[in-house]
Amino acid sequence: MLAVTEDLLKNLKTKDGVCLMYVDGSWVPASDGGVRELVNPSDGQIVARVAEGTRQDAQRAIAAARAAFDNGPWRDTPALERAKLLFKLADTIDDHTAELSAMETLNNGKPLRETEYDVADAANCFRYYAGLATKPQGQTFDVPAPSQTMVVREPIGVCGQIIPWNYPLLMAAWKLAPALAAGNVCVLKPSELTPLTVLRLATFVDELGFPKGVVNIVLGSGPVVGAAIAESADVDKVAFTGGTKTGRSIMQAATGNLKKISLELGGKSPNIVFADADFDTAVDYALFGIFANAGQVCSAGSRLLLEDSIHDKFVKRLVERAREIAVGDGFDPKTEMGPLISRAHTEKVESYIKTGVEEGAKLETGGKRPPGELGAKGNFIEPTIFTNTKPQMRIVQEEIFGPVLVIQRFKDEAEAVKLANDTVYGLAGAVFTNDIAKAHRVIKKLRAGITWINTYHPTYNEAPWGGYKQSGIGRELGTYGYDQYTEVKQINVNLAVEPSGWFKDRESGK
Ligand code: NDP
Repeated sequence: MLAVTEDLLKNLKTKDGVCLMYVDGSWVPASDGGVRELVNPSDGQIVARVAEGTRQDAQRAIAAARAAFDNGPWRDTPALERAKLLFKLADTIDDHTAELSAMETLNNGKPLRETEYDVADAANCFRYYAGLATKPQGQTFDVPAPSQTMVVREPIGVCGQIIPWNYPLLMAAWKLAPALAAGNVCVLKPSELTPLTVLRLATFVDELGFPKGVVNIVLGSGPVVGAAIAESADVDKVAFTGGTKTGRSIMQAATGNLKKISLELGGKSPNIVFADADFDTAVDYALFGIFANAGQVCSAGSRLLLEDSIHDKFVKRLVERAREIAVGDGFDPKTEMGPLISRAHTEKVESYIKTGVEEGAKLETGGKRPPGELGAKGNFIEPTIFTNTKPQMRIVQEEIFGPVLVIQRFKDEAEAVKLANDTVYGLAGAVFTNDIAKAHRVIKKLRAGITWINTYHPTYNEAPWGGYKQSGIGRELGTYGYDQYTEVKQINVNLAVEPSGWFKDRESGK
């Protein structure tokens, strides 16, 4: 693994073996020389050492971004030129798919087939927003003469962007692409656990010639660097993806200068299966909904709602299939589900499993680490399924963010909808049925921002992503995501340039 590691990381910018941050177009160490060791979640081995930024580093990056926005060329660069650079960035990502996906698997643990997908998705996100940059943005209104009114969109300014560890490169793309396309400048903080692919992305930004200070990558912990970004009076907007608790603290920190805010938070999303659904398809997507990325997905189908009449047959088949899922190292081509991100997160998921048992739910399968080296050294938990749950249980209400599925049963459509909406979250939800009218009735009643009929999880750069209730504020992706990185200005033009006469001009008598 060491050789693979060294080879994989050779394109990152380092000093004395420590990966550097990208601030104001330069590669810099932490101001106090701080270093963090990154661990491969599959085997506990140290894979890299990276700068551990400080509050001062965050402030320096914010100052560089401020200067780049206030005095720099980016916002005045024609949209076509910004688009060309973003298209080049997308192509460069594609050209480095093998390197980026292996780096992501090394740092995050998820199987190569997932990271390859993520890398392609990230490239396409830059491509989508590169295309959008040159498309019509404004509106005109037919207002009473002699005025003409138009509305234009302008960049917000300095955007602080804080992203999690579950999709490191993809989340960076979701944040940077719309912001840069719209003419903003960025200070992005990846998760302290998974900064490698974002640092490699910064080398592309540097080589492609984005003006200095337009993209800044600061490393460090959330409570230090993330909080400094959220609080700063020089940051005009903060965009965050992560846990609801952290989202709340970021929102509070952002009140100082009333910065614009968008939050993509957690979920406890219902996947509803009616008796008339295609059985094998529903089983397949129930597995995919919760066990893709080992359940570390904000929109995971973590609650499976089954109609009474199919409950037992469905659970039997689901448990059989869950037991067959190949859990292992993300580099092993046989692996279907990788590890959790860290030992601390594994312990948190295990404590939820213990709580579920104590609350009286029935553990149908999983609930433990796999035997041998895998479980001892890596952060693995077997695919886990609970039945016999009650709506008020913590495992039903709270986001576990791991490979833990809780099953609820319902007797009719009304009860399905009631249970589906019965959490503080409202991110996603799905319904499986062959009755198209019923599918739409149920979707219409779901209090969630992302929904699926007879599928689970597909996400498109073109469509808005975000949640109702405590799952967030605002939307990412699509034109909605672009709008969140713009201010809206109305321009009123007087087409008859003469005094209005509202106040009498005593001299002229008019
Ligand atoms: P966090 O929400 O804490 O982390 C997400 C990002 O926020 C990271 O970059 C983190 O930095 C940063 N951050 C942490 N604290 C602050 C702060 N006070 N101010 C500003 N930024 C901050 O997620 P965790 O990794 O702690 O996971 C906790 C739970 O959150 C999970 O169990 C899961 O339920 C949920 N989660 C949801 C995600 C989603 O996509 N909706 C993604 C990740 C987690 P750093 O990690 O470097 O300290």
